Amino acid sequence: MSLHTIINFCPTGMVPTKSDTPHVPISPSEIIEQTHEAYEIGITIAHLHARDSDGVPTYKKSVYQEIFEGVRKHCPDLIICGSTSGRNFPELEKRSEVIELKPDMCSLTLSSLNFMKQASTNAPDIIQGLAAKMKEYGVVPELECFDLGMINYGSYLIKKGLIEGPFYWNLLFGNIAGMQANFSQIGLATSQIPSGDFISLAGLGANQLTVTGMAIAMGYGVRIGLEDNIWFDKKGGKLATNRDLLLRTHELMAIHGKSLYSPKAFGELGFYNRKK
Ligand code: ZN
Repeated sequence: MSLHTIINFCPTGMVPTKSDTPHVPISPSEIIEQTHEAYEIGITIAHLHARDSDGVPTYKKSVYQEIFEGVRKHCPDLIICGSTSGRNFPELEKRSEVIELKPDMCSLTLSSLNFMKQASTNAPDIIQGLAAKMKEYGVVPELECFDLGMINYGSYLIKKGLIEGPFYWNLLFGNIAGMQANFSQIGLATSQIPSGDFISLAGLGANQLTVTGMAIAMGYGVRIGLEDNIWFDKKGGKLATNRDLLLRTHELMAIHGKSLYSPKAFGELGFYNRKK
């Protein structure tokens, strides 16, 4: 069991708006500021989305560039992961723009799925197109799985040589149309990942604290932040800040005797972009 915990910090995402919570960072300067604050508390990876000036998700390289440059300036060794989500813009050309900025990692969702109100379409040619472009630009894929079929598809890409190691998997639990946050589903999902690969677990909404606690206790990494959950308590009475969620994660790590996988130590295992 690992004594180090990876913290994958996801401050923004595509869904929360300022009317949902005033704490979600939307503008590049807010995202940079909150990522910097998180870096000083202790995180390993920052999983970043971009929004336009109206707060709407954008694929635009220019916005990602501003965010990445600011984060790199304040957090020089932090592993930066850009989102290639196709929820609002399915075309490969748009989704893959961020890869050209050569962040260390980019997300790669391994099949299509439904969320509560929206579909995320990830056709095989799009997934393989994103994977090929990541390989070309030296970007490590962040393998995102919401169900067992996605894990299987990731294994297929590995077997075919379409993605290369080191491998890092985000397993996300609690989506209405995906894996649920209980022992049997978490146990089955993690058992499907080859030993030696890195795994972080994420819980969506009220499942975030449950999954974070289980992940830390079991020696896995965690993904936390307002992208997945805007509430601090399970009853939904108190809005969270990214800082609160992160400090609570560090408290859980201290209780379980885990230390943080530093960005540098993790990056040097092969997660830093090799073509920078
Ligand atoms: Zn995301």
